[in-house]
Amino acid sequence: MWPWNDSAAWEALCRGQTCPLCVPGAPPDTILSLPATHVVVPRRACLPGYVCLVSRRHVVEFHDLTSAEASAFTADLLRVSAAVRPLRRAVKINLASLGNLVPHLHVHVCPRIPGDRFEGRPLDPGDGRDDVYADAEHETYVAALRLALVPSCPQ
Ligand SMILES: [Zn+2]
Repeated sequence: MWPWNDSAAWEALCRGQTCPLCVPGAPPDTILSLPATHVVVPRRACLPGYVCLVSRRHVVEFHDLTSAEASAFTADLLRVSAAVRPLRRAVKINLASLGNLVPHLHVHVCPRIPGDRFEGRPLDPGDGRDDVYADAEHETYVAALRLALVPSCPQ
């Protein structure tokens, strides 16, 4: 069932009571936290190099942030996007903020390369829940991304 069709369940998600990003304490697959966001890099994703940038505070919409929080969120987003592009040798970074299933502000950061599985069309961050990494490729990518984002971050 589409979550909007169960108004009580949707409201509980929007309030954060049943939010799958808040209930565990931090979103699953968080590799580090920046001033306004958690940096999430799951093995199961739409594309290799995919990052989900999740607001540290549970809000539903970008406009629910204060101006200071929105500035900090944007600064984190610029930082992550700039770090991901060279690591994946991306020709384009796609950003998507949807939240139709999980109404907790987050932005999908998706590095696009020629021949990727969405070539010729917009990507769908929810399309693809397979492990998109070979063997240690995920660990290598996470280590490189941590280093690019926080040079003093322990590996
Ligand atoms: Zn939440």
